[in-house]
Amino acid sequence: MNRLLIGDVYLWGTQKDILIEGEYIVDVVDHSDTYVSTHRDKNTQFIDGKNFAAIPGFANMHTHAAMTLMRGSQEDSRLKQWLKSIWKQEAKLDEELIYYGTKLACIEMLKTGTTLYNDQYFMASVAQKANNEIGIRAHHSHVFLDLGDKKNILKQREECEKMYADSKKWGKLSSFDISVHAPYTVSKENIIWAKDFANKHNLNIHIHIAETGQERLDSLRKYKLSPVAYLNELDLYSKNVIAAHCIWIDEHDIEILGQNKVNIVHNINSNLKLASGYKFKYQELIDSGANVCIGTDGCASSNNLDMLEAVKTTALVQKAWRKDPSSIPVKTLLNSSTINGYNAFGLKGGKIAKGYLADLLLININNYSFTPNINFLANLIYSAHSDCVDTVICNGQIVMKNRVVKGEEEVLDKVNKLYKKLI
Ligand SMILES: [Zn+2]
Repeated sequence: MNRLLIGDVYLWGTQKDILIEGEYIVDVVDHSDTYVSTHRDKNTQFIDGKNFAAIPGFANMHTHAAMTLMRGSQEDSRLKQWLKSIWKQEAKLDEELIYYGTKLACIEMLKTGTTLYNDQYFMASVAQKANNEIGIRAHHSHVFLDLGDKKNILKQREECEKMYADSKKWGKLSSFDISVHAPYTVSKENIIWAKDFANKHNLNIHIHIAETGQERLDSLRKYKLSPVAYLNELDLYSKNVIAAHCIWIDEHDIEILGQNKVNIVHNINSNLKLASGYKFKYQELIDSGANVCIGTDGCASSNNLDMLEAVKTTALVQKAWRKDPSSIPVKTLLNSSTINGYNAFGLKGGKIAKGYLADLLLININNYSFTPNINFLANLIYSAHSDCVDTVICNGQIVMKNRVVKGEEEVLDKVNKLYKKLI
């Protein structure tokens, strides 16, 4: 069994020794030379933790990984226009593009400290190879997006069943879920079919809801219901639902999402950049019982997959529009970007403690960003940039050390050639 010992590492204010066996953290103890010398043997990889702080890996709870290929391709436009351009490019996607686009995303995510991501993109059976090879944990999905077209409705169900069967052969870091793109792009009959399929097989449902004010207006006009309430009428909600955005919601919507313990993913950089909105009801959703997480969205809208940047922007925008600097403490931000994501999938991860999945980061604290070390979390979120992530351990394996990810150069080379197929 794989054994890894991190000795004398800073963890929330004290120096600790962390022992990992297989996929799990099996010991977190106060640092002592005796503990290290007892457990350091020829079958155990050793990392000297001096100069580093250990934190749990980030959970990027909403992204479209292979959209790295479209980074910078559609700038300065609103969601409607943006979608038009993106859908045109997506019609040209093939397996090679998905594979390398996802691989590039996984490399970027490792380098910025993500150990788990929730993907909503096409050809998941291909994409899952990429994250398995890189060694990062991912939830992929079959994406329903039928625009009400009768032929499409049936075709997508068949594809979903096929992909579900195929997912039994996926690597152990990849899981299968169901995606419903959005209430306005998927027919009522397929939303219901997808929900029943997910419930039958105990899968998560990943969906965009209430991203723009226009979506809310259209829904009120068409159904006399908000997008959140419309999906409630279809009995969509449960603790297995992961809803991205939820920017344009009212008190009644918050009550529905809270009562059903829905996981909400806030993607502030994407919302700001597409000018979709920014008054996310962070605290209200938490108070109602919802599980609030953070995501980056895809690179075609937010341009990067940097969770630390997403966390910082989340905090700054909450403080600004509420005119209240105390509106979002650093501990809440840490939970939303780590353990809440793992909880959404029922995974025991996102925390450095005995019995938890060994998904963690070593942060280089021997530099100006962390000096002085008065408030480590504030330094991490408000002072540092994600290049402070030195080492990434995922599922008990070292997948990045000294910021080096195996095969990075080849992937960059490939993507720089391949993206031209989309234009
Ligand atoms: Zn999205």
